[in-house]
Amino acid sequence: MKYTTLTIDTALPARPRAKVMIIYTGGTFGMVRDASGVLKPFDFSAILEHLPTLRNLMLQLTVISFDNPIDSSDIEPGHWLAIADIIEKHYEGQDGFVVLHGTDTMAYTSSALAFMLRNLSKPVVFTGAQLPISESRSDARENLITALEIASASKGSQARVPEVCVYFDYALIRGCRAKKVESMHFDAFQSENYPHLAKAGVSIDYNEAAIFPPSPAGLAVWKKFDRRVAVLKLFPGITEETVAAVVRNPNLKGLIIETYGSGNAPTAGWFLSLLKEAIAGGLLVLNISQCPGGMVVQGKYETSRGLQQIGVIGGADMTIEAAVTKLMLLLGEFGVEGARQRIGQSLAGELSA
Ligand code: ASP
Repeated sequence: MKYTTLTIDTALPARPRAKVMIIYTGGTFGMVRDASGVLKPFDFSAILEHLPTLRNLMLQLTVISFDNPIDSSDIEPGHWLAIADIIEKHYEGQDGFVVLHGTDTMAYTSSALAFMLRNLSKPVVFTGAQLPISESRSDARENLITALEIASASKGSQARVPEVCVYFDYALIRGCRAKKVESMHFDAFQSENYPHLAKAGVSIDYNEAAIFPPSPAGLAVWKKFDRRVAVLKLFPGITEETVAAVVRNPNLKGLIIETYGSGNAPTAGWFLSLLKEAIAGGLLVLNISQCPGGMVVQGKYETSRGLQQIGVIGGADMTIEAAVTKLMLLLGEFGVEGARQRIGQSLAGELSA
């Protein structure tokens, strides 16, 4: 991945309040209309024309822009590595990071980075916009300004929010609990099964009890993803052929079954024996509920007891975005057995015990 460092001349005073790096990956945030009215990524060095109040933040800002900003539907693990590499390289010299990202897959990227960046002591705040910054009613301006405030906020000598998080529409959400739930209105993200880390109004109210303390250990980055995973969403009427086609894929290492309610699935003999055969062949099978609220409790109902008996692992209250990225990363870093031992434990606050 190629990227360019841009200097933004914010006419800084001699002593900036903090140093924040903005990583611009693309998305609606930075689009402008060309002569024919089509939305295209803009040149980020012109950000001050759109947002002159950046000058009032008293921050030293450095921007790193992907050379080819992308719509986030094109995101893949290579981009997560590029973002993590930039953060790792500049970690010592910066007080915080803001990642500008398309909203469509932001929850996947914020989850991936939450798992990759071990022992964080600085904020990594994702944000974006539903309307491009070039539009007069855009939400981009408020989202960026407050994300920068949060990325630079400190308490004594420590960062206030030393976590990977998503700031959007006045709410700060833990990155591995975020889910995009809205494609038209500004309140695009929800925090699944975890309170907001902060709410922004006249002031920014931090929910200190919900925020991790900074880690005293130095930053370490997990970088290996194994993409040989799949998600099988159950629905009433799903056929044996469909399930067999997925679970008998010899290249698959990890499978997430998206179940009903508290982790329930059909009790049909063919369904359980296909999964049993796959698990016996070495496949890691994880149970994530289609319900955004509540959690998987295998064994609560007859319809999930069979899953538990054949060795399906319960995913508690993880979002599907957290589950997919965590599974790929654990498989890459630790192999199937190592991933099996770790997938049910909290790595970054993505699940409730
Ligand atoms: N399609 C855009 C993206 O995810 C939408 C957005 O940024 O809001 O890149």
